[in-house]
Amino acid sequence: MAFDRLLSRDSDTRLRLQRQLMGAGSYMMFLLPGALAVRWGWTDFGYPGLCALSGVAIAVNAVFFIAIRSGYSRRFADAALLVPQILVALALAITTLHFMRSEARSIMLMLFVAMFFFGLFGLTTRQFLRLSALAVLSYAALIAAEFQGLALHTPAFRMELLRLVSLLMITVWLSFIGGYFASLRQKLADRRDALRDALAQVKELSERDELTGVHNRRHLMRALERERQRALRVDAPFSIAILDLDRFKQFNDAHGHQVGDEILGEFCACVQQCARELDVLAREDIDEAFGRYGGEEFVMLLPHTPLDGAMLCLERIRATVEATPLRTSAGGLRTTFSAGVAEFHPGESSAHLLARADAAMYRAKHEGRNRVLSATARTLTDPPQPQRSTEN
Ligand code: GH3
Ligand code: MG
Ligand code: MG
Repeated sequence: MAFDRLLSRDSDTRLRLQRQLMGAGSYMMFLLPGALAVRWGWTDFGYPGLCALSGVAIAVNAVFFIAIRSGYSRRFADAALLVPQILVALALAITTLHFMRSEARSIMLMLFVAMFFFGLFGLTTRQFLRLSALAVLSYAALIAAEFQGLALHTPAFRMELLRLVSLLMITVWLSFIGGYFASLRQKLADRRDALRDALAQVKELSERDELTGVHNRRHLMRALERERQRALRVDAPFSIAILDLDRFKQFNDAHGHQVGDEILGEFCACVQQCARELDVLAREDIDEAFGRYGGEEFVMLLPHTPLDGAMLCLERIRATVEATPLRTSAGGLRTTFSAGVAEFHPGESSAHLLARADAAMYRAKHEGRNRVLSATARTLTDPPQPQRSTEN
């Protein structure tokens, strides 16, 4: 548990730290062979030297750990500090090799393979090749320094050349394989991102009404239930309104279904525009609050709004819709709607609240249409949810 906390809650940081600790672990892997090389006299540094090298490795890794854990490394593009970690490992490996007798060096060249494996976490082929060049050049510089002024046709020098060529081959080969793995990982990451975007799109589509682009009944019902829960929690008022276009069938009959569809879209745009301009909804995201309930009926949620505020808001929308010709392929057409408004009473269900607003809307129809009426107080029994036509 304590270790878990040490690794940070942020998933990216956790991942970087896990990799960093794996890198630190691979240093420790060389402690045992290093100790054996010291014991059998193949190094110049003895046990104190081995301890000093290990101490440096631990200290450097601690610095890397802190830099990643504290978030400091996030200011760099390479936030995992992969390249600096590999460069430090390279410097330590070359230093170790410098103090190794010839017999043990070949084995210690395996240090480089471990280093390149670490690069699998994110280096590209180009970065791998640069690292190869650096490793080979460093080793070549080491040989050049050691054989300065000495005869070059000796078996000892040829052995070093053989190691150098092997190092070149191995690191270049690992670079291509490593780069290939990195590109596979990138492809997987791209696919994961594409899938996430597609899922978000599917979710968005499943909550939108295809014809008008506003939210659909499914979304409205969820939003209403969320608002209801929130209102209960914080004891804040909210209201809803059901809007039904007046004599909409006549538009279909007179101009055709297509024009009817256009009216529905334009009506939504008009209501949203108007609601956006109203003070009572200015702070709320009107896109969230308005949707198509079915057919030519719509629902508006008015968070934080008691009945009188909601009535005022709907009355302004009603007047605007009445005064605004809707642009259709049959020219500018005017329409009106009737609405019922209800304020949420704590304890009632969403269905009950909707039914009260619906009843008020029907009263508005009976009283002559093109008007907004408020719902009566709650009834004791929960009436069934009104059935809506979803016919297109
Ligand atoms: P009222 O004032 O009483 O509400 O009259 P109305 O004509 O609006 O009501 P009624 O329920 O009789 O008719 C609603 C019409 O809405 C019938 C249906 O064809 C039409 N309608 C429902 N959904 C769509 C749609 O998606 N596109 C089109 N063009 N028409 C639709
Ligand atoms: Mg209707
Ligand atoms: Mg109608």
